[in-house]
Amino acid sequence: MRNLDTIKEKNTTRASSSAGPLRVTEAQSFLLRVPVRALKVDSQSALKAWDVLAVRLFTDSGLEGWGYQCGFGAAMSALKVFVDEALLPELIGQDARMHKEWWNELYLLRHHIGLNGPAMQGVSAPEVAAWDLVAKAADLPLWMLFGGSYRRRIPCYNTNCGWLGYSLDELVDNVKRSVAHGFRAVKVKIGSEDFREDLRRLEAVRQAVGPEVQVATDVNNRWDLQAALKRAPALVDLDIAWLEEPLYPFDVPGHAALAAAIDTPLLHGENIYDPLMFRDMLDAGAMDIVQPSEMKLGGISPWLEVAALARTAGKRVVPAGWTMMQIDQHLAAAVPHCLMVEWIPWILEIFKEPVQFHDGDIIISDAPGASTTIKPEALHEYAVS
Ligand SMILES: [Mg+2]
Repeated sequence: MRNLDTIKEKNTTRASSSAGPLRVTEAQSFLLRVPVRALKVDSQSALKAWDVLAVRLFTDSGLEGWGYQCGFGAAMSALKVFVDEALLPELIGQDARMHKEWWNELYLLRHHIGLNGPAMQGVSAPEVAAWDLVAKAADLPLWMLFGGSYRRRIPCYNTNCGWLGYSLDELVDNVKRSVAHGFRAVKVKIGSEDFREDLRRLEAVRQAVGPEVQVATDVNNRWDLQAALKRAPALVDLDIAWLEEPLYPFDVPGHAALAAAIDTPLLHGENIYDPLMFRDMLDAGAMDIVQPSEMKLGGISPWLEVAALARTAGKRVVPAGWTMMQIDQHLAAAVPHCLMVEWIPWILEIFKEPVQFHDGDIIISDAPGASTTIKPEALHEYAVS
């Protein structure tokens, strides 16, 4: 197997390219912890703060590239150690323009600790930073680097109004305010211990927003197939836009059986780490709406691969979201079959060019790069010591 040193040598011979190299001279990571208000967030997680693991690549061109990913708690601290010790040193001397070449080597050199999880996820922020560098070097927004856009704005669905921690009254207030603010779609977390309570909340939301607003639901993997088959029919009368992640993420036949049996569109993918599993899901008829995560898949290039698979299967995509809107806006611009992006505004303040929201849509950025540059004051304010 070739190794990264071989690639460094080979790339040295290409330094005379007219576009000029973007050789990485220094690679840094930052772990930021941004406080959030919602304590009980979904059926899996309760949190008080949201972590951002950011990577900054300096180059001999003078340009800086930024990538980021997000999550919470001790796992993110562990991921930072992996990124710092196993990945970033390998990037020194690499040409960011050649990221599609070094991505494979970077991943494969480390995959013996597992094909999924940190080995894959760790590569994503450096990969995004490389895309950011290439876009900045071209003086283009990322979506133009992809070859142009299908749209100038993309509708958002508001997840931030529908966490499980909200009381019924708070939930209803939140969705009403979301609609008044321009949102035409909201998401309500379900998967609590009492499905009758989940249904009561969904019924109240539907009554509050009326028939025109899309209402999506997210189980966060809490059900098994039997529970899902029993519960999903109740969602039909509420005209639920999609049922998200009801099952264990890797269960291909389970999702296929569920998709065949229910009338509500089945959306999942945010915990799938490999385009090949998306292929298998699509071949099996196991997803109606495809939800790839640039963070879990190891970056933007594999996200685009999955989007292409979805297109050929005749399915729409919804980026997995979390707080990746900065990048998702560019991905949504790049493909014709993106339905919406997820709105969770927890970390907007840390970015130099935060996404611009207007009347339920994100207005897609025209600024050069991937919209991932983090403000120095945010690095100072939210740094995890
Ligand atoms: Mg989800």
